[in-house]
Amino acid sequence: MDFNFSEQERMLQRMATELAAKSVQPRASDIDATGQFPFDLAKEMGRLGYQGLPYPSEYGGSGVGYTSYALVLEQICKASMTVGAIIAVNTIPEEAIFRFGNEEQKKTFLTPLAQGKLLSCIAFTEAETGSDPKAITTLARKSGSGYVVTGQKQFVALAPAANLALVFTRDQEEGLNAFIIDTSSPGYNIREPCETLGLRGLGTSVVYLDDIYVPEQNLLGKEEQGFDILLEVMSVERLGVAVQGIAVAQAALELSIGYSRERRALGRPIAKLPTIQWHLAEMASRIEAGRWLAYRTAFLRDQGLNIQYESSLAKLFASQVVVEVTRMAMQVHGAYGTMKTLPVERLYRDAKMTEIYVGVSEIQRSIIASHLI
Ligand SMILES: Cc1cc2nc3c(=O)[nH]c(=O)nc-3n(C[C@H](O)[C@H](O)[C@H](O)COP(=O)(O)OP(=O)(O)OC[C@H]3O[C@@H](n4cnc5c(N)ncnc54)[C@H](O)[C@@H]3O)c2cc1C
Repeated sequence: MDFNFSEQERMLQRMATELAAKSVQPRASDIDATGQFPFDLAKEMGRLGYQGLPYPSEYGGSGVGYTSYALVLEQICKASMTVGAIIAVNTIPEEAIFRFGNEEQKKTFLTPLAQGKLLSCIAFTEAETGSDPKAITTLARKSGSGYVVTGQKQFVALAPAANLALVFTRDQEEGLNAFIIDTSSPGYNIREPCETLGLRGLGTSVVYLDDIYVPEQNLLGKEEQGFDILLEVMSVERLGVAVQGIAVAQAALELSIGYSRERRALGRPIAKLPTIQWHLAEMASRIEAGRWLAYRTAFLRDQGLNIQYESSLAKLFASQVVVEVTRMAMQVHGAYGTMKTLPVERLYRDAKMTEIYVGVSEIQRSIIASHLI
């Protein structure tokens, strides 16, 4: 394995760092405070080619691969996890169409998504379950040359902005199907937004699917292939969450270094205290380990490999890292860390989300253990 990044990867990383500082960082606190979806920034990311980084140019993408995707995502998430998560969530339907779609579906759906002209969301979770695919109840019944989809989805991120939705349903037997649904279809109704602890402004909402007619050409893959599609695309989404965790942790470390140089106790900067140094060293070493785990997972995907195991390792570890690191950052900042005027408390809340969304840590452990035994 080559630990050096290519010139192109370094350039993309630099550009993302500049964009994050100029356009994303100044908005992060406001997006969090208002919980409003940043439509303009989502559009801007698309215009810059950040909505289709891994996918070939023939399908509207930038064709730079998953390592570049991870490097860019990290820089955007360091400024705002919500804005980075918009890119990561939109990538999932793209991944599904790229891996399982036919040529027509790639041209019709993937190309405008990767070009940033459309946005997409994924709707799997329901009120009764987010962890057990067998328990989903949204039904797709055959009707003429298509299907009628009926059900309700919970926690659909990007819902107010998405033009297309990757929706998982069950059939009258036990099988899962995956559909690309146009969100302007009659019966597709966005209901109440979900007020979440972190990742605020991601547009996470409840969506009702009231007898939506879906033409058969919108079925992704084959009938009853939905479970395989779910596992495959979730692995790329878990890579995205691992990167989000590392980015938020890095932001917390940098704030802590700055603050500890300024804040004084016993007549000198708290950075001189062994207790603070212990925190900073622990933070840095954990972040570094998590970062390389995430980069390696992206590298393996660039080799065309299945990353179901590696992405669970990376997500589990990175989410533990970011929860611990942001807790330490709070300690370093003392009472000021708890105040809304500093970003540390936002990072602390965003950190917790990585242990929950895209599969709770218990599910990641179960995937890892099944692989081991
Ligand atoms: C901000 C945000 C954005 C989200 N975005 C989306 C989205 O875009 N699309 C989407 O479909 N979903 C989305 N989700 C939903 C998210 O992926 C689920 O909430 C998550 O997978 C957990 O599902 P659950 O909440 O139903 O937990 P449950 O499945 O009810 O689990 C609750 C707890 O029970 C335990 N548990 C459950 N099952 C097992 C098991 N098999 N083994 C061991 N322990 C278990 C665990 O301790 C777990 O934490 C989002 C959630 C949030 C908060």
